[in-house]
Amino acid sequence: MTSAGDGEALTAPFVVVGGGIAGVSCSEALAVLRPQDDVLLLSASALIKAATNVQPLTKYLVKFEVEEQAAAALTQRCPTVRVVQDAVVALQPGAGGQGVLVTEQGRRVAYGRLCVCSGARPKPVHADHPLVLTVRDTESVRALQTRLAGARRVLVVGNGGIATELVHELRGVEVVWVVRHDHISAAFVDAGAAEFLMPAATQEGAAEKAGQAAVEPVVKRMRFTEARAAEAGGGAGRGAALGPDWHERWELRGGQGGRQLTIEYGCEVQQLLVGDDLWPARAQLTNGKVIGADLVVSATGVTPNVEVFARGNPGLRLDAEDGGILVDEHMRSSVPGVFAAGDACTAGWAHAKHWFQMRLWTQARQMGAYAARCMAADAEAEGELPLQDFCFEMFTHVTRFFGHKVVLLGLHNGQKLPDGDWEMMLRAVKGKEYVKLVLQGGRVQGAVLIGDTDLEETFENLILDQVDVSHLGEDLLNPHVDVEDYFD
Ligand code: FAD
Repeated sequence: MTSAGDGEALTAPFVVVGGGIAGVSCSEALAVLRPQDDVLLLSASALIKAATNVQPLTKYLVKFEVEEQAAAALTQRCPTVRVVQDAVVALQPGAGGQGVLVTEQGRRVAYGRLCVCSGARPKPVHADHPLVLTVRDTESVRALQTRLAGARRVLVVGNGGIATELVHELRGVEVVWVVRHDHISAAFVDAGAAEFLMPAATQEGAAEKAGQAAVEPVVKRMRFTEARAAEAGGGAGRGAALGPDWHERWELRGGQGGRQLTIEYGCEVQQLLVGDDLWPARAQLTNGKVIGADLVVSATGVTPNVEVFARGNPGLRLDAEDGGILVDEHMRSSVPGVFAAGDACTAGWAHAKHWFQMRLWTQARQMGAYAARCMAADAEAEGELPLQDFCFEMFTHVTRFFGHKVVLLGLHNGQKLPDGDWEMMLRAVKGKEYVKLVLQGGRVQGAVLIGDTDLEETFENLILDQVDVSHLGEDLLNPHVDVEDYFD
């Protein structure tokens, strides 16, 4: 990896900014698609993130690990990719699509085609307070680990995947979890799934035992309308990301023996007050309570990291709502020659019915690789831009929550479906599995599969094919009926 380089002028037909999953996937794919061309990867971070141990579970659902690697490992795999550790401070687009990037160390990097994969950063809560720690990367998890030593009570703020994983991992410390919604993990699951996860969330070590939990003989199957689901707090889920098991490498242990979890629902931190004799930090919540703690951990949503590219470039369109670089169905921004992928971008095309954007490793990898295909085709004299990759037909995500395997397919929380127009079908076996289907007009639109259900392929097919399953009634979730047989 190259780093120091005052005044150096570099040029490459393909330049990628960002050594995260999106930038690395994009660079790897460009190396394969355009072996005759150099690829320059500029990254502010010393290490790059690569997807390893990639295992397709179904046609659409892919499980993989995210590994931090030295830049040399990427160059070894892809000799045409050169990695330079430097931060971009300005984008100067030129006529005809080509342009120049200016870096912190004074480099000027001329590109033919550029892909911005600069990721996103967490929106911190009261970040300037010395007792607030925002979890964003390996470094911040390490800092948390150090600051937990001796801690008696930690306040965790946020209800996305990161907060969920943190609460699961914290040991030897009292945890007060402040969530904005009526149930935990709302960015991913509905109230019913949250209730299924609660025993594992509240009992120390329960998650590890989840696999061996005594199987309750009663299988509960229920059917709800969307209105009832919403009453129970299970409205459409949106929010921050979670996925491959970043947290499992870290022991997050406080200074106490056991762990006690208290959840403050439906509220946020209003302000941080000065500490008292008992607690160095005191948080006033919007529900009026004041909670003392040794440390406040902020794990709320993220915001795209794109200011340096947008500054001075009014032609670069950002999404009005989330601030990402708006891209079309070929990952092109509004500036010719500039593409974007991963957390930095906002998918500005007309989405397929069962897909929506969520800032996750899965989508960063898919977008990075697909952006490379579009950039390569764009560089061909007579090149035709590729058809959009099939992965954008349906949302898929596989992860672990509180020790359980969690598979999310399609509109798993009724996202995008008109209120009152869909229903939910449930099967739950306490401690073992939770299966939820979202149905509209007798067709499956989404699914949440918790536990080792082995149903992902069946429901993936039913969502994609939109077969009318109304004649099956509740047999659709009958564990003694093989639904596949109906459709062979
Ligand atoms: P990033 O991985 O953020 O990479 C951005 C890269 O751009 C970095 O290398 C950075 O150094 C570089 N960069 C930024 N600005 C510049 C600049 N100006 N010049 C040069 N380089 C620059 N998702 C999951 O699916 N599963 C999880 O378990 C999960 N856990 C998470 C835990 C935490 C604490 C956080 C914060 C996020 C988590 N996410 C998870 C979300 C996931 O990390 C992101 O969706 C994913 O990393 C996005 O990849 P990316 O390549 O777009 O961006």
